[in-house]
Amino acid sequence: MKHIPRKATTHVNQNEGLIFEKSSAGKAAWRLPPLDVPEVDTAKLLGAADRKDLGHMPEVSEIEIIRHFTRLSTWNYAIDLGMYPLGSCTMKYNPRVNEVVSRLDGLANGHPYQPEKISQGALRILKTLSDCLIEITGMDAITLQPAAGAHGEFTGLLLVRAYHQSKGHARKKILIPDSAHGTNPATAATVGYAVENLKSNPQGMVDVAALASQMNEDVAALMLTNPNTLGVFEHEIHKIADIMHAKGGLLYMDGANMNALVGKVRPGDFGVDVMHLNLHKTFSTPHGGGGPGSGPVAVKKILEPYLPTPVVIAKSDGTLGFEYDRPQSVGRVRAFYGNFGMFVRALAYTLANGPDGLRQTTEDAVLNANYIRKGLEGVYDLPYPTPSMHEVVFSDKLQAKKGVKTMDIAKRLIDYGFHPYTTAFPLIVPGALMIEPTESESKEEMDLFIDAMKSIAEEVEEDPEMVLAAPHTTRVSRLDEVAAARKPVLRWKPS
Ligand SMILES: *Cc1c(COP(=O)(O)O)cnc(C)c1O
Repeated sequence: MKHIPRKATTHVNQNEGLIFEKSSAGKAAWRLPPLDVPEVDTAKLLGAADRKDLGHMPEVSEIEIIRHFTRLSTWNYAIDLGMYPLGSCTMKYNPRVNEVVSRLDGLANGHPYQPEKISQGALRILKTLSDCLIEITGMDAITLQPAAGAHGEFTGLLLVRAYHQSKGHARKKILIPDSAHGTNPATAATVGYAVENLKSNPQGMVDVAALASQMNEDVAALMLTNPNTLGVFEHEIHKIADIMHAKGGLLYMDGANMNALVGKVRPGDFGVDVMHLNLHKTFSTPHGGGGPGSGPVAVKKILEPYLPTPVVIAKSDGTLGFEYDRPQSVGRVRAFYGNFGMFVRALAYTLANGPDGLRQTTEDAVLNANYIRKGLEGVYDLPYPTPSMHEVVFSDKLQAKKGVKTMDIAKRLIDYGFHPYTTAFPLIVPGALMIEPTESESKEEMDLFIDAMKSIAEEVEEDPEMVLAAPHTTRVSRLDEVAAARKPVLRWKPS
């Protein structure tokens, strides 16, 4: 199949207006049947809360309101529109079968206060998903409660702390590589640990000699991402685990990058003691605005007594139930049992793929990242030539000579119909372009992406000013991202 290149423009199609500007008196998008009950005096009923003047409300027809909201929905980007190569985030397709299963009446209408006796199906889902994830990670036990990856990290370190306290020696430090995701040091600090930075070696991996010299009896754990945030597999992971264990420390694995490992290797087999999974990354549940997230934490036997309660257990009468009486537990970390709807989706994904399908998924994700790497090598600088797993990290070194940075290239990519890659992370790569296609993308879509990236590199040579002013096709161009997060404007007000 020959692909039609996506052409970028520098022109916005201004076919929209505010719904308030479309208003004209007397129009309505609704029609009610005649009143068949006695009319009430709303002033009497509502007192001071009664409002006769509804202010400046738009009056529009049904088709106008439908067009308005449908148009707004197209101003955002989604995995359902095209490739979403946001590195480290594993923005894979959310299969529709997951949605169908999660809407089954018995699951969608279940209530957390329902008696266990009539919750056996829901409990079976918690148990089966737990068993699958334990098998996939090679660990011994799991909690599904945490609501996201960062919350999983927090829960995991609470377990680490409880473990060391039970040994009578509360250690003070957590070691974290300089390539780590920002949530890792933030989590360690939140749990009350001091963070000690570990420098990466020239291949972008943990410097094992440096680790050996930094490891001592004051270190509670090493938080390690594998493959790390450069998309590189830490192949000395066994040595790393041995160094930690020899001095009584634990190995925490940030499992955000499990999309490179599922069905191939198991963290439990390479010495990991505790790890989180991101169901909204690896296990295809919606990510971002479509959430909520889910960050199960899997552990080895030594940490099992500290897991949050309640824990799903098989009772002596053959039914499933919740166990609350666990004296060493760190307690609850989330209301009820976690984000149940996500467990249904993740289990649907896992069972639909099966062991061979999950392995194939991993292989395709790695193949896709390497296809993009080959397509863009030479066009963009590759700071670490170490083999890539499920994502590849370039830098803007070549384009920076023209004054164009990773953020500018990412903004121009929007004009080509793609969501940007991850910019400026990991921190050990100045001007990083972090690209993760996931297994969801076809060769055709990746070819379009590679063409777009090559085309932008040419534009940088010929007309850097145009790239610096991108995006040109969006309703708003460059936003103040800090103000947008800190002081969001969520409501239109008449001026
Ligand atoms: C996404 C991510 C996290 C945090 O996970 P959330 O679910 O967003 O809280 C942590 N570490 C890495 C490497 C990640 O990519």
